[in-house]
Amino acid sequence: MAPVIAAAQLFDLSGEVALVTGASSGLGARFAEVLAAHGARVVAAARRVERLEMLATSHPNIRPLALDVTDLAAAPGKIEEAEGPFGPLTLLVNNAGIASGGRIVDTPPGEFRQVMATNVDAVWALSQAFARRAIARGGPAAIINIASIVSYTVASAPASYAVSKAAVLQMTRAMALEWARHRIRVNAIAPGYIGSEMTGDYLKSPAGEAVIKRVPQRRAGDASDLDGTLLLLASNKASGFMTGSSVVVDGGMLLS
Ligand code: NAD
Repeated sequence: MAPVIAAAQLFDLSGEVALVTGASSGLGARFAEVLAAHGARVVAAARRVERLEMLATSHPNIRPLALDVTDLAAAPGKIEEAEGPFGPLTLLVNNAGIASGGRIVDTPPGEFRQVMATNVDAVWALSQAFARRAIARGGPAAIINIASIVSYTVASAPASYAVSKAAVLQMTRAMALEWARHRIRVNAIAPGYIGSEMTGDYLKSPAGEAVIKRVPQRRAGDASDLDGTLLLLASNKASGFMTGSSVVVDGGMLLS
């Protein structure tokens, strides 16, 4: 029988080099801090570099990287640049995302494409560039995609956002299947309603308050509610046999 590993070692990410996209606020900033606190070296990427520089002051293991994920042609070069501070990347957290739009009939021209460019095309391009380098090195490596409960359902979400997050879930499965033999694990976190810049105003509005009443746990989540799932999926020691999975963290919302 394999020896039992204590939790502190199971989730020790020393030796891991992570790239977290959309790390200038919300979940991404939290992910960067949690990974760094567990020994990973982290390249925190986003467009608002001054915020990343602030984040980098919180931990010596965090370095900023200017990145607009919608610049698809730049993705291979940006993955290479991200390997500058700490060496080859072993973990990619595709977190950058936008939510916009409402009803399909009201969506202005171009908005659907904008949501898909950020939430889907960018995940594809960055993952592809990351995987090519990881395959050349022989792995191991991991990708964590940030999906959503609206990967599974539509509910009252803006349709374009729900479509994009469904694509993230299927992309997670397709990449997991293709890259398992290369020792690259690809999993997703599917959060419910979590307080952040994206959701803050909405959750405080009457519509948002009504939605929170429908959450079985009767509260919105905090970014810290995702810490354990992030560490589980990031650690090859803890989840080495998990790939193509999506972990729902939503206070029971999908059940209601
Ligand atoms: P947020 O708005 O605080 O964070 C999104 C981040 O992505 C920001 O830092 C933003 O600057 C960045 N970003 C957007 N477009 C970018 C681009 N073109 N290039 C680089 N960075 C870009 O919101 P959040 O809630 O922290 O969202 C993080 C992820 O979690 C998103 O993918 C979102 O869809 C997903 N998510 C959030 C919730 C929630 O309730 N907060 C629920 C499910 C899924």
